[in-house]
Amino acid sequence: MERPCLRSAPFKKILIANRGEIAMRVLCACKDLGIATVAVYSEADRHSLPVRFADEAICIGPAKSTRSYLDIPSIISAAEVTNVDAVHPGYGFLSENARFAHVCEASGLRFIGPKSDVIQSMGTKERARAMMREAGVPILPGSDGVVKSEDEALAAAEAIGYPVILKASAGGGGRGMRVVNEAAELPPLLAQAQQEAAAAFNCPDVYIEKFLRAPRHIEFQVLADHHDNVAILGERECSIQRRHQKLLEESPSPVLKADVRCRVSEKLRGAMAAVGYTNAGTVEFLMDESGNLYFIEVNARIQVEHPVTEMVTGTDLVKSQILIAAGEPLHQVVDMSLKPHGHAIECRINAENPETFAPSPGRITALNLPGGIGVRVDTAAYAEYVIPPYYDSLVAKLIVHGRDRSEALDRMRRALDMFVVEGIYTSIPLHKRILDHPDFRAGRFDTNFIQRLLSERPQRNGS
Ligand code: ADP
Repeated sequence: MERPCLRSAPFKKILIANRGEIAMRVLCACKDLGIATVAVYSEADRHSLPVRFADEAICIGPAKSTRSYLDIPSIISAAEVTNVDAVHPGYGFLSENARFAHVCEASGLRFIGPKSDVIQSMGTKERARAMMREAGVPILPGSDGVVKSEDEALAAAEAIGYPVILKASAGGGGRGMRVVNEAAELPPLLAQAQQEAAAAFNCPDVYIEKFLRAPRHIEFQVLADHHDNVAILGERECSIQRRHQKLLEESPSPVLKADVRCRVSEKLRGAMAAVGYTNAGTVEFLMDESGNLYFIEVNARIQVEHPVTEMVTGTDLVKSQILIAAGEPLHQVVDMSLKPHGHAIECRINAENPETFAPSPGRITALNLPGGIGVRVDTAAYAEYVIPPYYDSLVAKLIVHGRDRSEALDRMRRALDMFVVEGIYTSIPLHKRILDHPDFRAGRFDTNFIQRLLSERPQRNGS
């Protein structure tokens, strides 16, 4: 069926190489642009919403992701059979896989993300550190690249000063990280980090960084086109984490000073242009207790928490990714003079027990999604949907926007009350506890907040 569209579509058809809420998110952007869509799905996702709403859907293998969503030949075959001209990888799965991006490029498919060689260099964390340092972006004291032996690691840690953190060069998802408080602990923890990195990423390389005891996590949203233009769309604060995994994000950060935001954004524009970065990306920093920011890594993809930036900037980041991949100059994609307005918060609603954090897959027997002014829900869930046990536990993202942080907090609190999910456990009760905590409301928190909260007794109305 022909769709009405005001301007010619940048691509005719896009394959969405992902599942769940992000597949739906990409699908919405394609529909808004008048682009036809192909959903790929595993046998476990046969009854999923992307399959229902995409123009075409194609099964790429069994439930196990290594044989479906991570299987490059299956996805490329699906793209060829359906004759698409571009592939959107979403986040996770193959989104930061340089080989996948390269195979797409070599197969004549536009990969909606940075070029494969840039993904490769940004994905090697100690290389990204070196590139940022060269561009004048502050980094934490650390080893000079990968540590090659125990002796080299001990010498580097001594020079940095304990505590230090061991990090997998190819790391992600908090794997391959170990905090070392003193020299005696280093040898066994180095072996553990190397083993974990080898098992998870097929690469045992580890480097060392100064460990900050009470940092805040602050990251900057980047959009860059193929004509050397780079825009920084403000920051997100993601300090509410459990085991280094984000639970709640907001924009702007309640503590970032305007002059620091300005200085870092300026430096990043230069740094991202220097590395030839294109498309959407996030540059992550840690903030120390004096308010200084230190680079930790680049995520060369759209992030889970991108909606908070969309809410405060009024920019559709996924649509921007597609237009940039089609070669549009940045000024046609975003309003370069935009000033973020108001405050946005996102709560990740995970299918997990809020006390034990054990995954809670299964049938959703009843579902009420909150709505009303300033409320957005990104999800692929519906009543009677059965959450499969094979993938991550994110069921929905609840995002609110308010004139200021106080209005956003109140709006989020009432939206959480109106968010009903029956049949499975979710993280909704934990989010209510976070929202009710006076320190969170006052913006007084760091990455240890959840650990402290969990050691306190629930205050009120935690259910
Ligand atoms: P991953 O890519 O595995 O998610 P990151 O480097 O992005 O790892 O770090 C994830 C989280 O780990 C950070 O948000 C922070 O909470 C913690 N972390 C990472 N590096 C440090 C550090 N040097 N000091 C203190 N905490 C850190």
